[in-house]
Amino acid sequence: MNLLKDPTLFKTQNFVGNAWIDADCGATITVTNPATGETLGTVPRCGAAETRRAIDAAHEAWPAWKALTAAERAGYLYRWYELIQQHKEDLARILTMEEGKPLAEALGEIAQNSAYLPWFAEESRRLYGQSIPSPRSGARLLTHWQPVGVVFAITPWNFPMGMIPRKAAPALAAGCPIIVKPASATPYSALALAALAERAGIPAGVFNVITGSASAIADAVTADPRVRKVTFTGSTAVGKSLMAACASTVKRISLELGGNAPFIVFDDADLDSAAAGCVGSKFRNAGQTCVCVNRIFVQRGVYDAFLEKFVEKVRALRVGNGLEKGITVGPLINEDAVRATEAMVKDAVEKGAAVRTGGKQHTLGECFYEPTVLTGVTPDMRVFNEEIFGPVAPVLVFDTEDEALKLANRTRYGLASYVYTRDIGRVYRMIEGLEYGMTGINDVALAAPEVPFGGVKESGMGREGGCESLKDFMDPKLAVLGDIRS
Ligand code: NAP
Repeated sequence: MNLLKDPTLFKTQNFVGNAWIDADCGATITVTNPATGETLGTVPRCGAAETRRAIDAAHEAWPAWKALTAAERAGYLYRWYELIQQHKEDLARILTMEEGKPLAEALGEIAQNSAYLPWFAEESRRLYGQSIPSPRSGARLLTHWQPVGVVFAITPWNFPMGMIPRKAAPALAAGCPIIVKPASATPYSALALAALAERAGIPAGVFNVITGSASAIADAVTADPRVRKVTFTGSTAVGKSLMAACASTVKRISLELGGNAPFIVFDDADLDSAAAGCVGSKFRNAGQTCVCVNRIFVQRGVYDAFLEKFVEKVRALRVGNGLEKGITVGPLINEDAVRATEAMVKDAVEKGAAVRTGGKQHTLGECFYEPTVLTGVTPDMRVFNEEIFGPVAPVLVFDTEDEALKLANRTRYGLASYVYTRDIGRVYRMIEGLEYGMTGINDVALAAPEVPFGGVKESGMGREGGCESLKDFMDPKLAVLGDIRS
């Protein structure tokens, strides 16, 4: 880790109750750089026993943490935020080395998501209860908001830094301690954030990170009645199994799952803006984001013109090691992801799609895939129905607004959707007709601390960001005051 200004941010142990620990049995997980294939290091392979001790630490920390004023808790969040800003270049390097995304994207991920810390610090100071008009004289009805208790967060590899403030900021601001289990492919971002949380003076047990066997850790968490909320970002399959497991102790659960985003270009769209937005969303993180464009629908009148602009921009993308200057598309997370992408392209081509550019593994190495555009895509193809999670852009042509809407909604997912048009009536019809949690109109930037990010259908439940999301970590406590004489 000689690339870091502060090498002590590269932590190879877990952080539980303000102690840096190994797995009881000494087992480890090896972490590799997908761009080079070299080993970055190891982290502990913890299991049920270490998880229960992390829950002990968080549960012990809870009474003192929730007893602080909102302003006192906010102070810790601000200090953590400041330290993240001071060390953002080192954090970005760690992120790029373990995940592969270009350094500029890594810096963007840190800037955009660390902003959840001050936003929720502020928001928690304005969380007002209610005085409710009583149906009975002599009684008064009040509510105030109470933290749910210990929170357990499971995060994915595609935003290893970003997903943590998104979950920890509202939890900590609400008065809940949190334990984070990052993805095994990308644990160092979470551990670096833990090192900075320690420096920020966040009390012992309030913020913890544990790595290891996902199923052993999840089983220990879902069975433990002291964990009152699970917040998960990852695949729909794992989200469903966690939802079922949380039923045994009636835990609250938030799920940010997979997507299959449509990108609809109408005849009246600004085609330069549409092509730029489409490339930006489709190829961010090499196509490995939940809100990545997954299917591109272009109205017949502008099909050729749009495609020409789009393909030209795709060909201009620069593939390579994300640490190198000017790289815009990094590697996929591992070789399996390249194999999965190849299989989807093969399926599409066998069913009649044409490869306009790309279409195979990149000569740079095992984890690289060429930015690819497929035309002649039809709804029977896997690229239409499944989350691609690779740099492959399937394009379809449509004639009418009704047809576009029906095709766009023909999926079990409902996370992000995008529409390019200048017609205000159509804008409203699309916002109301698209069965998605989020719709970008002439814009592809959806996430911010101020807004409710999340999906419908099998893309999940609950929202991250926005004033309502703090309440996902709290319960409204009702107080009935009787025998009040006037
Ligand atoms: P994943 O396989 O579901 O893994 C996500 C996390 O769940 C990892 O920490 C993983 O740990 C853990 N996990 C795996 N099996 C588990 C189990 N049986 N019980 C509990 N936890 C388990 O997903 P991924 O491949 O990392 O991430 C890609 C997916 O995340 C995509 O579908 C993407 O759309 C979705 N995503 C959604 C959003 C959103 O906001 N909606 C944002 C980003 C990503 P290990 O790594 O140790 O296996």
